[in-house]
Amino acid sequence: MKTLGLIGGMSWESTVPYYQQINQTVREQLGGLHSAKIVLYSVDFAEVEHLQTTGQWDEAGALLAAIACQLEAAGADALVICTNTMHKVAEAVQSAVRIPLLHIADPTALAIQQAGLTRVGLLGTRFTMEQDFYRSRLEQQHGLTVLTPPQADRDRVHQIIYDELCLGEVKNASRQTYQRIISDLQAQGAQAIILGCTEIAMLIQPQHCALPLFDTTALHTQSAARWALSEELAQGTASP
Ligand code: GLU
Repeated sequence: MKTLGLIGGMSWESTVPYYQQINQTVREQLGGLHSAKIVLYSVDFAEVEHLQTTGQWDEAGALLAAIACQLEAAGADALVICTNTMHKVAEAVQSAVRIPLLHIADPTALAIQQAGLTRVGLLGTRFTMEQDFYRSRLEQQHGLTVLTPPQADRDRVHQIIYDELCLGEVKNASRQTYQRIISDLQAQGAQAIILGCTEIAMLIQPQHCALPLFDTTALHTQSAARWALSEELAQGTASP
């Protein structure tokens, strides 16, 4: 089994499910007392959020790149950035190390394609919904059509992530807001919704919504765990 280097803490509310789900996948595949080999670096999210809101993306990239180097030196065979938003600095991180970065958008797009869908609504932070680093990977590399809510709704989706979900608060009123926004995306032709922020599954689960959901946390953790087990899967010593 290979070792995964997790860059987490953004927020720690969603790093907990990363740790849990990667371990669960390894246990399902190998059985018994098997668990994942993980090196975790958990940041102080207030520092990262300050860099985001002040537009200091080069500094944010340098911070995560330095962490990536520490994880590589600690024995990680691949890197997992446990947030969609910070994939904005994926290139800075990847170019600092020799080990691969397992990008969150790739297993997400693959799952959507495997479901035979092409037109998806994207919910996430303002950065993820509005900037090119994430959408263009889905659209240009994976051929999907990505719909996002209008400005006022993007602001509300973003605010609920930072002011509630990243603080561990799950509110019914916010769930209803997300449900209304998802219905509007459906009316625009969305066939499914990408939960493109690693905390949104705290708020929205399949029973809350008529459209299929693609939870980036679950898809990223499953694909990272399977990457770590690729030798065992190839040798048939793990269940397929
Ligand atoms: N975890 C969130 C995401 O997936 C938002 C927090 C962050 O800015 O990293 O985008």
